[in-house]
Amino acid sequence: MLSQPGLRRAKETFGGPAELAPLRLIGGFVCVDSHLGCAGCHFCLNRRYPLQAEVLERRVHRNWEEAGLSPERLAALVAALPAVQRGRVPVRFGHASDLAYQVDGARALLAALPDDRPALLLTRFPPGREAVALVAAHPNALLHLSVTPTVPGVMESDEAPGEVLRAAATVPPRRLYVMLVPLVAGAEAAAARILEAIPPGAAVGFKPLSSAGIPFIGPATPLGPEGLEALTARALRLGLKVPPMAGCQVRANLGLPFFRHREIVAERPGACTGCPNHATCAGVPDPTDAAVHAEMAVLGLAPGPVRRGPGGLEVAVDVPVSRADEVYLSEALGLPVFLSGVRRGGGYEVVEVGSPVLERWEEAGFYPAAELYAAARRMAALTGLVL
Ligand code: SF4
Repeated sequence: MLSQPGLRRAKETFGGPAELAPLRLIGGFVCVDSHLGCAGCHFCLNRRYPLQAEVLERRVHRNWEEAGLSPERLAALVAALPAVQRGRVPVRFGHASDLAYQVDGARALLAALPDDRPALLLTRFPPGREAVALVAAHPNALLHLSVTPTVPGVMESDEAPGEVLRAAATVPPRRLYVMLVPLVAGAEAAAARILEAIPPGAAVGFKPLSSAGIPFIGPATPLGPEGLEALTARALRLGLKVPPMAGCQVRANLGLPFFRHREIVAERPGACTGCPNHATCAGVPDPTDAAVHAEMAVLGLAPGPVRRGPGGLEVAVDVPVSRADEVYLSEALGLPVFLSGVRRGGGYEVVEVGSPVLERWEEAGFYPAAELYAAARRMAALTGLVL
């Protein structure tokens, strides 16, 4: 867990019609889905957002093609984003839905992306042959499996972890990332059995239960730090990798620097030891002010004064900005960039990105808001969702 003061930001939602959009810049990713709707797990983090929660509750299942946005058109929009072209921000396919419902969308996406642009494909179901073959064929793809260690009566999932792992057995281990999530107190033994079924050389991550903003969690409590440490030690003994973040694995596969390197080593000095990507992450040169300003122009931001601190670059701006602005600048420059105006703090908080940011992106050619909103409105009309 990273807790360096000042680095934590509020969670963001696009809000309004944009919350439904099949392509959004959320957290550290370009989040994409060619399908609307999912299984509706009671612990799903998407339940934090009203429109996404309603999609899950009502068991909506629609392909975005029905709303006039084909998998190929969506993939072309993703591939054309400056965040992908210049920033190499990883694409997260299966953010609000699951790979299982949208393999055709994954095929179109991987065909449109150059092989050096990272893409994570997320599922918690046994991946089918086509999905496995896609990951094996594309060096930039990482299959991200979510599996849930069961604690009877406290935390259960419809999917048996063993079946999910067996279905992914032929994925090259370095393109496999298994996230044990959500981890609750009492899950240690079940989690240990899952670790033993993961092929050596694959990467794993552990995410404790997060209940903030989610209505249906029940009596479960998150697995504590000691339990997490014990699982990490067990995974390492089994020959698994435990990178600080899922983003490390996909970048290390491609030799791309991760701008969070400084933050990671400040928090846990040994965390990057032995990572084959260490020289790349640690060797990013300080950019000139002109280089910072050139990337700000991509976002439609006027140049501002740049201050260099031990944690990264701090840039003053006088217009509304979002976390995605910071992520783009950080990825494009390879070092953390902090913009004044991005809400920070340690607690759980969700803020709306807001239309001034989205309008600026549209005008700058950074994000095709108008086309995506039009599709979202058509989808709302099809499903009866109220935007
Ligand atoms: S060097 Fe550290 S930050 Fe970079 S990819 Fe490896 S583990 Fe992640």
